[in-house]
Amino acid sequence: LRALLKDPSLLATQAYVAGEWIDADDGSTFEVTNPARGDVICTVPNLGRAETARAIAAAEKAQKEWAARTGKERAAVMRKWFELMMANQDDLGAILTAEMGKPLAEAKGEIAYGASFIEWFGEEAKRIYGETIPGHQRDKRITVIKQPIGVVGSITPWNFPNAMITRKCGPAIAVGCGFVARPAAETPLSALALAVLGERAGLPKGLFSVITSKRASDIGKEFCENHAVRKLTFTGSTEVGRILLRQAADQVMKCSMELGGNAPFIVFDDADLDAAVEGAMMSKFRNNGQTCVCANRIYVQAGVYDAFAEKLAAAVRKLNVGDGLKDGVTTGPLINMGAVEKVEEHISDALGKGAQIVTGGKRHDLGGTFFQPTVVANVTDEMLVTNEETFGPLAPLFKFETEDEVIAKANATIFGLASYFYARDIGRITRVQEGLEYGIVGVNTGIISTEVAPFGGVKQSGLGREGSHHGMEDYLEMKYICLSI
Ligand code: ADP
Repeated sequence: LRALLKDPSLLATQAYVAGEWIDADDGSTFEVTNPARGDVICTVPNLGRAETARAIAAAEKAQKEWAARTGKERAAVMRKWFELMMANQDDLGAILTAEMGKPLAEAKGEIAYGASFIEWFGEEAKRIYGETIPGHQRDKRITVIKQPIGVVGSITPWNFPNAMITRKCGPAIAVGCGFVARPAAETPLSALALAVLGERAGLPKGLFSVITSKRASDIGKEFCENHAVRKLTFTGSTEVGRILLRQAADQVMKCSMELGGNAPFIVFDDADLDAAVEGAMMSKFRNNGQTCVCANRIYVQAGVYDAFAEKLAAAVRKLNVGDGLKDGVTTGPLINMGAVEKVEEHISDALGKGAQIVTGGKRHDLGGTFFQPTVVANVTDEMLVTNEETFGPLAPLFKFETEDEVIAKANATIFGLASYFYARDIGRITRVQEGLEYGIVGVNTGIISTEVAPFGGVKQSGLGREGSHHGMEDYLEMKYICLSI
């Protein structure tokens, strides 16, 4: 991998704690592997609670000076950081593909997306407005100011090794917080590369640390028990989110949670079918189905069901599975064998209950964790895939008759992150977008992520929003000041 990089120094293999590149106190390390080839890229330090506590202490110290700077001064550093990310987009993309598996073009897309949070929130640093409220008595003057919450602990997954971190540290650092990132053990290298560039951009020493560690629950406990941490931000499964919320309760810690989804994707009779197929391909097969906003249940109205299934299968057969570093590959490997087994379990459960394979359905000839992009028809409510996120390249097709029926089915889940539908009748569009119990609704589009909009879920998909001016609020506390004159 180092040989592929224009700037090999971006491939950092030590952890970044309190502004220093360090090894673990006990010298332990773990391996980072390339899921497309199965080979070891490098090892990184396996840090524990002691190093995490040092990162938190340094962040607490650095944060005070950082928060005292003007918004414009913070914005200037973040602008530099953004520009360095874009200038090194190719290398950052190659590192990301190597550790995570998504095709290089998609990885470079993620770098641009990730960088956009640093750019956008850096600009917002200048606009942290307060409020004045007319006093309740003649001698009273009321103002509300917004202040950074303090030190933030962050835990992120492997599916977006860059952007999941920047959409948290972007607003946190913009408002004047300190930030300790614990990236997934599968993908620490993108996080470390981000730290290399943050250091070059001039982030103050200790403000931003990266804890590489396999000891996820230890790091989670340190974040929740250390009094200097005032906010926990997490992206991952609902199951782990619940554990962290319980732990955070002891310190009454503010939490942002981006948890699992079970996205419905609905195609009505009046939809533009080609557009719906294109949207379904992006929503379902981007990142090989490994995103929390991927379509998990595709509901197609009876009148267009067969036509849609045929067009979707034709598009799926054109996907080119392979090593993401090779030209022309559209679909990489899955992250690990566990992910492959989950897809297989969902397929065999569906087939056992009467569903049929339209295309794919098996492990790919390339071996390893490669899997054939799959479409399954005649899926029904009692199948596993209806209730659980597959997180893989499986598109299950459900047939429905009426609008009311499909809204009820779409909402029949504990999750409420992203949803999508394709239709043209304006009355229907209005009714359905209002009826879906989701934090995000894509209407006639399969792609909804952008730094300018509030991303987040309702129900058990999470708490808080990332992106947009609402994303700033999650890192700010308001202070009400009552002045008697
Ligand atoms: P995923 O399926 O994306 O790996 P998880 O919720 O299992 O979803 O993991 C998301 C992140 O949370 C990962 O970085 C993982 O290491 C971390 N994690 C898992 N369990 C815990 C825990 N008990 N405490 C803190 N972090 C955890």
